[in-house]
Amino acid sequence: MAFTLPPLPYDHAALEPTIDAETMKLHHGKHHQAYVDKLNEAVAEEGLEGKSLEEILGAISSLSKKARNNGGGHWNHSFFWETMKPGGGAPSGALAEAIDAAFGSLDGLKTKFGEAGVGQFGSGWVWLLAGGTVGLRIVSSPNQDNPLMDDAADKGVPILGNDVWEHAYYLKYNNRRPDYLKAWWDVVDWDKVAERFAAAG
Ligand code: MN
Repeated sequence: MAFTLPPLPYDHAALEPTIDAETMKLHHGKHHQAYVDKLNEAVAEEGLEGKSLEEILGAISSLSKKARNNGGGHWNHSFFWETMKPGGGAPSGALAEAIDAAFGSLDGLKTKFGEAGVGQFGSGWVWLLAGGTVGLRIVSSPNQDNPLMDDAADKGVPILGNDVWEHAYYLKYNNRRPDYLKAWWDVVDWDKVAERFAAAG
């Protein structure tokens, strides 16, 4: 079974004005599709048929750059679309308590997350990780790397992630990555984040 592009769970324009429809069209239909297509090439070239994406990422240190960049690209973007919804919301319950414990407040989390996003030189991702014994923490990764990769420094469970590649924000925010990072909170699906947090244990 070849990997396929998952449909967006909302319309291209649903995250306006935070993320414009044109950016969503290109990001999902062109960028994500390209990761899927090249991942399928890597699967054929490297004999990875039948492996799940998680299995591929868990053995990425022994695979090609093509498998890494496009396997990561497919996982990261699939996760990203599901992390957002029109209207956003706010964390509550056990998740809100864990955020307060780790960062002092939701604003504390947003500040730290924004700093990590601005501090990621070039293209990459910022993640909020759960799991393990150290509580919630923020990590960034270059290119399409992610915490599921076997050579990741912190293999915690991602419960939230933002794409800081220029293709994610340049049409609307130009070079103003800090503005994009700040505005993005308006479309975070906290119910989804809470669901992932509960599953992370
Ligand atoms: Mn992207």
